[in-house]
Amino acid sequence: MNSAPRIKRFLNLRAVEVVSPYIKAGEKMRTAVVTGASRGIGKATAKKLCENGFALAIIYKNSAEKALAFKNELIKDGFTAECYEADVSSSKQVNAAFEKIKKDLGRIEVLVNNAGISQQSLFTEITDEMWQEMINTNLTGVFNCCRAALPDMIKNHSGVIVNIASMWGETGASCEVHYSAAKAGVIGLTKALAKEVGMSGIRVNAVSPGVIKTDMLSSFSEADLEELKNETPLMRLGAPEDVANAVEFLVSEKASFITGQVLSLNGGFVI
Ligand code: NDP
Repeated sequence: MNSAPRIKRFLNLRAVEVVSPYIKAGEKMRTAVVTGASRGIGKATAKKLCENGFALAIIYKNSAEKALAFKNELIKDGFTAECYEADVSSSKQVNAAFEKIKKDLGRIEVLVNNAGISQQSLFTEITDEMWQEMINTNLTGVFNCCRAALPDMIKNHSGVIVNIASMWGETGASCEVHYSAAKAGVIGLTKALAKEVGMSGIRVNAVSPGVIKTDMLSSFSEADLEELKNETPLMRLGAPEDVANAVEFLVSEKASFITGQVLSLNGGFVI
């Protein structure tokens, strides 16, 4: 597949030449890292970035089989992809994975911080462990990956980061205080980091989805989902592709003057 025109339409960045088992000498390739790309929103987003000419680094934690199957599917379709196991809450694992990605696939131009967990609990029943796991995964994970990706982006004066927040980080959810706090933190991190690295040619934005039909909703009954749908002005739940489309836009050159923003997509649930 000739993806050159698509690549050109995307980031107006210098391509890097790397020699690795994945990329032949002299071949130009741009790399995107998507955390939690084994399934759900991350997988849809990763596919979209491949279609736009990026080599893809799939970061997963537990779903090794799904990540590998997805990688094989992408390779069969003519894309470049590789899987990397890392718990985003561990800076050690994240740094090691990013070093490996750079060696395999070259300079990282796009980072999508998507990996996340959710949990419902009354506030008074949130234990220290639950709080730590939520903050460490959903907020510290974003910090760890941004910190691993940024030195090269700054050196090269280019790069795009998209963080997946949540409408609950904007408006707060009852029985999800720890989740809401972590996602509000992601929004704060996005805005502050955008101010700091804008002069280095790097854009940092967040996408803030509403209710998106993925495994994350597996604890909801059909009746709960129907109710959520009826509460949504557009009368449907979101699909992972809705989020992928928003990330595609924010990564593209069409968004070249957009940084530090939160793009909400929730069917009108929060206005
Ligand atoms: P899923 O539960 O379907 O997928 C979660 C993904 O995150 C998996 O790929 C999982 O990897 C990965 N992950 C979880 N913890 C870690 C970790 N510590 N290290 C590395 N990877 C990890 O969720 P969604 O696709 O629905 O959610 C993706 C993002 O979108 C999350 O940040 C979520 O908060 C956000 N979001 C989702 C909404 C929804 O309604 N679905 C709404 C608003 C925001 P593995 O399986 O390999 O462990």
